[in-house]
This record gives sequence, structure tokens and C-alpha cells, in this order.
Amino acid sequence: MTSSSAGDPPDAAAGTDAAGTDATASSATDSAAARPPDPPAIRRYARADGAAVTFEAALCEHAGECVRGLPDVFDTAKRPWIQPEHASLDALETVIGRCPSLALKFERSAAN
Ligand code: SF4
Repeated sequence: MTSSSAGDPPDAAAGTDAAGTDATASSATDSAAARPPDPPAIRRYARADGAAVTFEAALCEHAGECVRGLPDVFDTAKRPWIQPEHASLDALETVIGRCPSLALKFERSAAN
């Protein structure tokens, strides 16, 4: 239940992994051309003011600190699942600082 595909948001893995469709289930006989490209290892979600949140799915421990701490920002039912415009810079920094795996990181811009 805790395995997930690279790029999955924390809670999405629990809801969609029952069929065992993660990348590790693929066999060597799969054609690389038949599969969609792998998602980037680290995704970046930028705000209009230049600050950004990055997420590295491979590190996520599914502890849920992010979705509990800022549900308007981290919502696995939405796409993108991280919407950093919905909180203050200080709130983002505080909640992202609680991420136990360092899957989430926060970047302030030079202007802020
Ligand atoms: S706080 Fe970090 S480890 Fe926990 S679910 Fe969010 S991204 Fe994953």
C-alpha cells in the first residue's frame, strides 16, 4: 500500500495503487516506446512572485504533514496537487519544514 509511482502525490498512491500499476511492475518485455515518458524526478511548482515548492516523489514517506498542514496548498484531488499561491510564504516555509523526508523543499525568490 505504500509503494507509488514516481511523481505521485502522497495520498494518490494509496487510492490508485491497488492494481499494482507502478513502474516497478513493468517487465523487461515492455516496449519503451509504448509507455509514457517517466515524470521528472523533482517537480517544481512556482508562484507568480518567484518563490517555489519542489517535490521529489521518490523521497516521500506519505506522512501527510503537508496535506494536514496546508490543505489548500497540498490537495491530492487537484491538479496540480501543489498550489503554492494558496498560502503565505511564511506558512509554506513552516509546513514544508515539517516534511520528514525532505521530499518537499521551499525556495524563496530573490525578491522575497
Ligand atoms: S510531508 Fe513530505 S513526506 Fe509527508 S506526505 Fe508530504 S511530501 Fe510526503
